[in-house]
Amino acid sequence: MTSLSMTRNIPYFDYPQLFKTQEEDLTQIFQEVGYRGAYILQKDLAEFEKNLAQYTGAKYAIGVANGTDALIIALRAAGIGQGDEVIFCSHTFVATASAIYFAGATPVPVDCREDHLIDPESVRKAITPKTRAIMPTQLNGRTADMDALQKIADEYNLIIIEDAAQGLGSKYKGKDAGTFGLAGTISFYPAKTLGCLGDGGAILTNDDVMYEQMCLLREHGRNPQGEVVCWGLNSRLDNLQAAFLNYMLKEYDQVVARRRELASLYHGYLSAISQLKLPPAPTTEGNHFDIFQNYEIETESRDELKEFLKKNGIGTLIQWGGKAVHQFSGLNISAQLPYVETMFTKCLMLPMNIFLTDDDIAYIAGVIEKFYAK
Ligand SMILES: *Cc1c(COP(=O)(O)O)cnc(C)c1O
Repeated sequence: MTSLSMTRNIPYFDYPQLFKTQEEDLTQIFQEVGYRGAYILQKDLAEFEKNLAQYTGAKYAIGVANGTDALIIALRAAGIGQGDEVIFCSHTFVATASAIYFAGATPVPVDCREDHLIDPESVRKAITPKTRAIMPTQLNGRTADMDALQKIADEYNLIIIEDAAQGLGSKYKGKDAGTFGLAGTISFYPAKTLGCLGDGGAILTNDDVMYEQMCLLREHGRNPQGEVVCWGLNSRLDNLQAAFLNYMLKEYDQVVARRRELASLYHGYLSAISQLKLPPAPTTEGNHFDIFQNYEIETESRDELKEFLKKNGIGTLIQWGGKAVHQFSGLNISAQLPYVETMFTKCLMLPMNIFLTDDDIAYIAGVIEKFYAK
């Protein structure tokens, strides 16, 4: 094990590395796209959409400007708007709720359970005659209990739209996140598991009508002939970002494998520390195949541990600035969700990305061991 006397500097996420580790290839792609003048809705985007659909097993993938627009477009295409209620898990990025809000509907928060994902029982309790959809977040690279959610959706005739911004390649019973509901969305924000050099997003669907609607919505309501057939937005995935993503997608299985390896290392080092609650370890059996967008632990001494890690050069993050969506008073969403509220006094994310070495994980684990040995 690495000596603790040698302090390392491990940022939570090293943004320049995203470019530097693939500098030559990305620069070449930039030149190639630039010389073709291929910036908007060009072949690189079409190819990426085809490859992404193939990767996830969805019938269609549509590149859009970011993961938030992806949600708004999916909701609008599903006909959700004023007077409708959409249920989401409050342990999510505010974007999940704001997409519901900007689609014109009412965001209804529910609780999570031990694995930090949406609690189907909490969903059931939140259903009213106005409920139209359930929007689970496939959080931290893990897919929710989709059987339980589908059962509720069938019972009450509800739509499912997945926020799979953090879930590309994650599976439940062998099926990919983003492909369960009427539509599912992905984000390519730089720190996401498949991150581009800016903003980007995609929507997955198996539904022909949804596909057509969403293509119109992202392109000013214009059909391929240029005729405006409905109100639309400008929300296209840049062709240059699509070209980068197309290149990165080829290596994505290795990225997932490496993240799972890092999670195994953390689990091996930390599972003996009784004061810590760890995320489920990566397994190949069972219902879940997790891709570890994040490694979110819980501990009673969260703030002290965060400080101790910082003193030892290790960056950590408390997700969403330390609050569940319904706890931001400016949003005027009131709810009492006991699991998630308690969890937010204890949760902390350790560094989790492919720029980390095995030695980095050993060092981080060593510092944590030292903290609890005090
Ligand atoms: C990142 C993220 C989004 C938003 O994606 P953007 O591309 O940044 O708009 C939405 N939901 C969740 C859960 C996310 O993690």
